[in-house]
Amino acid sequence: MQKKKLCLLLAMFTGSVNAADFESPLILPTEIAHTEVASQWAVGHYQNIKQANRVWNNYNIDIKLSPATISYLDYPYETIEEVSDNIKQMIANDPSIINNTLTTFASQVSNTTKGHARSPMGFEDLESMNNAQLILSADSVINSRYKFVYAHEVGHTFGAKHTEANTVGSTDALFKNAYGTKQCNAEGTTSLMSGFSSYNSANGLPFINGQAGCDQGSGDVVSLLNKTALAKEGLTDLTHVQTLAAVVREDINAQQFEVTLTRSKDIDNAQQAMVYVATKVSGKQQAALAPKEVWFSAGSKTATLTLPFDQVYPLFDNAASNQGTYLVAVTKDEVVPTDINLLDHNTQWPLNHDKKEGSGGSLSLFWVMMMSLVAYGRRKIM
Ligand SMILES: [Zn+2]
Repeated sequence: MQKKKLCLLLAMFTGSVNAADFESPLILPTEIAHTEVASQWAVGHYQNIKQANRVWNNYNIDIKLSPATISYLDYPYETIEEVSDNIKQMIANDPSIINNTLTTFASQVSNTTKGHARSPMGFEDLESMNNAQLILSADSVINSRYKFVYAHEVGHTFGAKHTEANTVGSTDALFKNAYGTKQCNAEGTTSLMSGFSSYNSANGLPFINGQAGCDQGSGDVVSLLNKTALAKEGLTDLTHVQTLAAVVREDINAQQFEVTLTRSKDIDNAQQAMVYVATKVSGKQQAALAPKEVWFSAGSKTATLTLPFDQVYPLFDNAASNQGTYLVAVTKDEVVPTDINLLDHNTQWPLNHDKKEGSGGSLSLFWVMMMSLVAYGRRKIM
């Protein structure tokens, strides 16, 4: 009995200790820097990472992804193929742009391919391909249907392929079996690495070949990912930039959210932080705020930003069902470790917020009257 318990504890312990840590920086085109789209990308990147980690956790894959710096580079925000060619050229001219296969670049919405990543054919490729770019189309950050495209592309960077035919030329047995299938079970469901996006399993996560629920054929993606994760770990030094803290407070009197950022690096110098707020919507509605600039004064650990309710509530209103509205904050050398759901800090919406349509009309007129009465009363008191 005692022994069993110990084994279980050990198993749990080794499970987390073995997970190899990887960071995924995001590089956006300068031309979108001040637009709402940048916020959708920043928040969407955090969500993509979260979704990918859910997949790895579910199948005991020893990969743990963390967000890293969000920066801008002067490349056109175009189709996925154009961005791919452009970045390839930029890397050829300046290899220092990228030192990690999980560096993610942004391209426009695409009707065809949603992501691009190069995939090694064997262990000896891992080092030489460690500076190949990962590109996503905007679909992956605006449409929840494509929330696992990033995980799929990450799978490629660790050596997984779409089909058995794609593995021809692999230099190792593990690589030969690491492919997805269009029909990975008797019901004909597709798997994460198959290259199709309709692979939902019962728990909302994609199937992976070789695991429960996806047992047709000899594909085994998990064994490969666990081995290449260990082999890739350490190829890129971790930057440990996930040290920025953001605390959100609902300020009912001032009708705003107050966001306090606390930095832990470079405190002697003034420094800019960017705050991104976005949600996912269905259809063409406002889904994000333009990025907000905040400044840390020289010598100050903290900086504060306010987000008025009347800027944030439209995002709450528009968000697709079960979709939070998230905040991400970064400086050039620090980022928040996870995104923050503003709804978790909200008690006032939708209670005192009238939707534009429906019975809100008369109610809002009522509130305007009440508010002017209050304002009048206050003025009188003063
Ligand atoms: Zn693919």
